[in-house]
Formats: sequence, structure tokens, C-alpha cells
Amino acid sequence: MSIGRSARFGERAAARAIVFFALMLWLAAGAPSRAQEIHVMHVQGRVYVLAGAGANITVQVGDKAILLVDAGSAQRSDEVIAAIKALSPKPIEFIVDTSADEDHIGGNQNLAKTGHFVTGLAGEDTEASVISAEALLDRVSARSGGGNSAIPSDLWPSDTYDGDKWELFNDEAVILEHPHAAHTDGDSIVFFRRSDVVSTGDIFTPNLYPKIELEKGGTIQGEIDALNRIIGIMVPEGNEEGGTYAIPGHGRVCDRTEMANYRDMVTIVRDRIEDLVKKGKTLEQVKAARPTLDYDGTYGADTGAWTTDDFIAAVYSDLSGQNGADGKSARGDGTR
Ligand SMILES: [Zn+2]
Repeated sequence: MSIGRSARFGERAAARAIVFFALMLWLAAGAPSRAQEIHVMHVQGRVYVLAGAGANITVQVGDKAILLVDAGSAQRSDEVIAAIKALSPKPIEFIVDTSADEDHIGGNQNLAKTGHFVTGLAGEDTEASVISAEALLDRVSARSGGGNSAIPSDLWPSDTYDGDKWELFNDEAVILEHPHAAHTDGDSIVFFRRSDVVSTGDIFTPNLYPKIELEKGGTIQGEIDALNRIIGIMVPEGNEEGGTYAIPGHGRVCDRTEMANYRDMVTIVRDRIEDLVKKGKTLEQVKAARPTLDYDGTYGADTGAWTTDDFIAAVYSDLSGQNGADGKSARGDGTR
């Protein structure tokens, strides 16, 4: 009796183990496609941040319309739309793109379709206006190798601004600035003046060294200039946290002190690498000198889309005009 029972118990335990194992397999198989949860956080004033759908999405809620900075990945659009609707029933009127990467522009069309754009006397458009610096449109619409653009035209910005600056109003002054050569040549900084929040795109990523994409027109000096410009906009609140908040392209919302620390880090690392370049060091020698060592705990990465080595190589290439691997110039612009 007791043997039979323990045998049945053993069978049940085995069956449970199989079910458990199958569940683990299912979870493991599903894990890559099971996306991160979307989190919504109120930043300040009219501005919220939506995280977990690719790049951070800034949501400014006006009385009549919503303005977004970046659109997240295409495959997360349904969840993004639901999260925005939970914040406000108003339509999306503007989407500002800060980067040409899929996790910034992938949701452009899906989100724009749910909104509309009031064109004054001419009436109303049936989709939101997707705005970027002109250089970003040039970049996404550029044909590769004589063929079509690698990025479908549905995802291109519908409107662009030329020059350094553009202003619009959605229940507060919203100021777009275009640093010409920072993370890329198509970046935008978006400042919500009354809410006292600035969206930086990938010029600022508080958990990673800045992603300076030389092949897309980025430069280390332009990156430092853009960080200084953002710090110039931000006002601290006494000696405490608070004042102006910055929403980065990826990662957590930060205050001016964190932004200034980041700028200091980028400037110091640039100076160290510049010294080594002036001494004629190769890229391998520069990497061996560990010019980022004291910052790697905060901003470094050994794996992923932007590693510490990638950052050092980009700064080295920019300052030396050499890509380090075969001595060719890294400044070519083969994509255009
Ligand atoms: Zn990004």
C-alpha cells in the first residue's frame, strides 16, 4: 500500500516535473520575444516618460493634443498606444524623431495613424506630423548601393526643420534644437519650457558611454558641445535633486548634476585619448592604456550594442582620422 502510494506519488511528481520542465522550456523559448513591460512615469508638469518599448518615449499631454518624442519599436506600438490612451484621450499631433534607429522611429507610422495634425486654414491631416531635423530625413531616405532606402518610407519623418532651431506650441513652448554632429548628424534636443523637462535622444545615455556614430555624421566634439548645450538649458534646484529633468534616449530620468557628471566624464576621456593620439599611439595601445578605467563601473559595457571598446574606437577614429584596424580614414560617408 505504502509502496503503491509512493509509486503513484512518484508518478505525479514526475508528471509535475515534466509539466514544470515544459513550462521552463516554453518560457525560455518565449523569452526573447516576450518583451519588457512598458512603464509610464510622470516626470514633471505636462511631461511623462514611457519606457520599455525600445527607446524612451517622451509624452507631453496638452489640452487638445499629445506630442511625443520618439516612437519606440514597431512591434510594441499597440502597447504604446494603450499606455498613451490611459494618460489622455487626446489625439497625437506631433512625433519628434531624435534618431534614425528602429527603436526610435519604428513606431512612427503606427502611432501617427492614430492621431491627426491640424494644418490651420488648410484644415486637418488624418495623421500626426512626424518631425525631425532635415539631416535625419536625408539619412533615412538615402539609397544604399543605388537601390532603395533600407528604411521603409512609411517610417520617414513627414516634416522637417532646417537650421539650428524650431519652435512650436502645444499648451507650452516646445523648443527643438539640432546639434549638427553629436550622436549623429540628425539629432534633436526637445525642451518643454514650462514643464522644465528636456528630451535628449541618444546624445545622453546615463548607463552607457555616448554612442558616437561616425558613419552617421557623429563627432566627439559635437557630442561634448551638445551636452554643454543641454546643461546650459537645465537649471538645478539649490543643492538638491530637482530643477530641470532630462529624459535620455535610454535609461533613467536625470537631473542637472548627473548630466554635468556625464559631460565631465566624456570630456576627460576625450582629453586622455587625445593625448595618446598626439603621442602616436595605435588604437590597440590606447585601449591597453585603459583611458575609461575609472568610469567603466558606471558607463562601461563588455557586450551589447555599444561597448566600452566601441566608444574608445569611435573617439580614437574621430581624433586621429584613422579607424585603427587598417589605417583607413573612418570619416567616409559611404551611405550617401
Ligand atoms: Zn537609441
